Amino acid sequence: MSRFFSDRYASLVPYVPGEQPLDRRYLKLNTNESPFPPSPGVLAAVAEEGGRLNLYSDPDARALRAKMAERYGVTPDRVIISNGSDEVLNFAFMAFASDTCPLVFPDITYGFYPVFAELNRLPYTEIPVKDDLSIDPADYIGGGKKTVVIANPNAPTGLFLPLSEIEKIVQGNPDGVVIVDEAYVDFGGESAVPLTEKYDNLLVVGTFSKSRSMAGARLGFGIGRPDLIRDLNTIRNSTNPYNVNRMTLAAGVAALEDDAYYRDNCKKIEAARAWTTDRLTALGFTVIPSTANFLFARHGAIGGEALYLALKERGILIRHFGKARITDYNRITIGTREQMETLVAAIETILKEQGGQT
Ligand code: PMP
Repeated sequence: MSRFFSDRYASLVPYVPGEQPLDRRYLKLNTNESPFPPSPGVLAAVAEEGGRLNLYSDPDARALRAKMAERYGVTPDRVIISNGSDEVLNFAFMAFASDTCPLVFPDITYGFYPVFAELNRLPYTEIPVKDDLSIDPADYIGGGKKTVVIANPNAPTGLFLPLSEIEKIVQGNPDGVVIVDEAYVDFGGESAVPLTEKYDNLLVVGTFSKSRSMAGARLGFGIGRPDLIRDLNTIRNSTNPYNVNRMTLAAGVAALEDDAYYRDNCKKIEAARAWTTDRLTALGFTVIPSTANFLFARHGAIGGEALYLALKERGILIRHFGKARITDYNRITIGTREQMETLVAAIETILKEQGGQT
C-alpha cells in the first residue's frame, strides 16, 4: 500500500478471481467458463464492429436492449446492459442498499457480494445456509427493511430455489429490492424475469459469460421495473456511460440471434453434468445436486485442498475455497464430455494412489 492510499479503502479485501496460470496448458474447470466457442455469428459481428472502434459505443445500448426485450418478453426500458454482471451487481448495491436498508445474503454464496458491500461501506448480514447447504427462504422474510441478494442457482453449491420460493422472498420484502442473480439459470433453472412484471421490488441480474460463451467479452444485464432501471442508469451514467464496448454490444446482439446454438450447448453441458455426477458418486463423492454448469463435491478419503492440488499437478484446475463450512468441497466446472472423462480418469488415479475408495 502506498502512503497515498485512502484510508477509506485501506482495509478492503478484494475479490480473488479463479486462478489463470500461464506456466503450462491446463484443463480449466475452475472459473465456470463455457468449453464451447462463441457462435459463428458472434465472431463475424466482432470482426465487423472492430472497424468502428474510432467511435464511442452507444451509451444507451439501444440495439442490444431491443434484442434483449424480444428474447425476455419485456420492454427495452426494463433492461440495463453492463460490463459483466459484476458491474450491474455493484450498481444495484449502490442504488438500493443503505444504512436503513442493509444487505442480506447467504453465508455460502458468490464471494463478490461482501466485497461490493465493503467497497460501498454498506452494512450486510450473512445468513447461514442449512446443513445441506440449501437456502431456507423463511430466513429472508421478516426482520424489517432490507436488500436481499440471492444467487439462483446459488454458487458455489449449484442448488436452485423454485420460483415460488423466490416469489415468497420478493413478497416478504415489499420495502426493499430483492436482487436475484441468475448467472447460471440457463442450465436447467427457471428465470424470475416474468415476476418483474408483477413486483416493483425485484431486480433480475444475468450474464452472457456462462451459457453464451462470452466471459471474455464482459457482458451482463439487469431486468426490472423501469424506475429501478432508471436508478441503475443514474449510477451507471455517474460512473461510465460507455461502460460496454462496441464489439461486446455487437456480440451480444449476434448471440441473441443465435439462441438455438447456445440452448444446444446448455443441453450438452447438462448431459455432461449428469454423467459426471453419476461417475463421481460411484467413486464415493457426495455431490450436491446442481442446476448450474458446475458441481460442488466432496470425498471422505481426500480433503478438498489435497484433491485440488493433486489435480493441478496433473494439469487440471478446479476451484477450492478455503472457507469454513466448505473446505472439504471443490467446485468443478462442467466442460465437454471428453474433458469430464479426463477429469474422472485423473480423480480415479489420485484416489487409487491415496488408497481411497474407487
Ligand atoms: N454472479 C455469480 C453467482 C457468479 O458466479 C459470477 C461469475 N463469477 C458472476 C455473477 C459474475 O459474472 P460476470 O461478471 O462474468 O457476468
